[in-house]
Amino acid sequence: FQRLKQGLARTHEGLVARIDTLLLGKKQIDADTLEELEEILITADIGVQTTVELIRTLEAKLGRNELQDGAALKKALQEEIGARLQRYSAPLDVTVAKPFVIMVIGVNGVGKTTTIGKLANRYVAEGKKVLLAAGDTFRAAAAEQLEEWGKRAGVDVIRHQAGADPSAVVFDGCKAAVARGCEVLIVDTAGRLHTKVNLMEEMKKIRRVMGREISGAPHETLLVLDAATGQNAMSQARLFKEAAEVSGVVLTKLDGTAKGGIVVAVSNEFQLPVRFIGIGEQAEDLRPFEPSQFVAALFD
Ligand code: GDP
Repeated sequence: FQRLKQGLARTHEGLVARIDTLLLGKKQIDADTLEELEEILITADIGVQTTVELIRTLEAKLGRNELQDGAALKKALQEEIGARLQRYSAPLDVTVAKPFVIMVIGVNGVGKTTTIGKLANRYVAEGKKVLLAAGDTFRAAAAEQLEEWGKRAGVDVIRHQAGADPSAVVFDGCKAAVARGCEVLIVDTAGRLHTKVNLMEEMKKIRRVMGREISGAPHETLLVLDAATGQNAMSQARLFKEAAEVSGVVLTKLDGTAKGGIVVAVSNEFQLPVRFIGIGEQAEDLRPFEPSQFVAALFD
């Protein structure tokens, strides 16, 4: 919990410390206060839609005389944010299929490879047999980096030479995962953002290959977003949600940014579960997302 709190320190400063300055000690809440609060929420990347929703709910509570002072308003805000995160977030359960196939998508640089490495570590630590497939054949460095993580975690990586057809890698990965009795297969994909049509076609092809080899695969399509990019992460979420059947989100690099409100915005606006958050570069810095713990670490 202390590590999580530390990881969220910047967002705490940008969001909660400012809220404290605005609200604590305030005996009377007026329209100006709410307007200032609205601005703080938007600046912390909670998103316009979610901010408007939150402010409306708080206004209604004020109208019903349910909030006596600034402290009560802060508490109500914290609860409303928690409730919104709770509404969509669920842990990723990889025991519902064998092998459970996770397809990882997202643009270059967001922390996709690192996230896959951290996930491999996590599942190995749980005693599971894990296999990785280097479906990003576009960047040679991506497969090499994946192999580095694989070595550290003691996990094999299925890879082809650069420029090979990603679907062929995925096909081999699926075959090998079944043959070796793996519990989890994690598939990396290329993070090129060409046109939406191309992206969609590539995603569809990979999904088709997986689905033919392993029933129900991919069981999870995990979108990785860099929290530090704020509204850019929102546009990526929109694009990928239209192009692929995203079923969960990872928000990385929360440790280096004050834009942590993006966790709330992504989950609430796209109605997607946040599965994990990244709060550092080490393997243990990828944490399963727990709404109540997150809100407590951020606010308290
Ligand atoms: P990819 O291009 O999406 O595969 O991105 P990489 O996995 O190569 O990550 C890009 C950089 O972000 C690397 O230097 C990672 O160590 C770093 N990174 C990834 N996740 C986190 C995180 O949660 N916190 C921090 N501070 N750095 C991260």
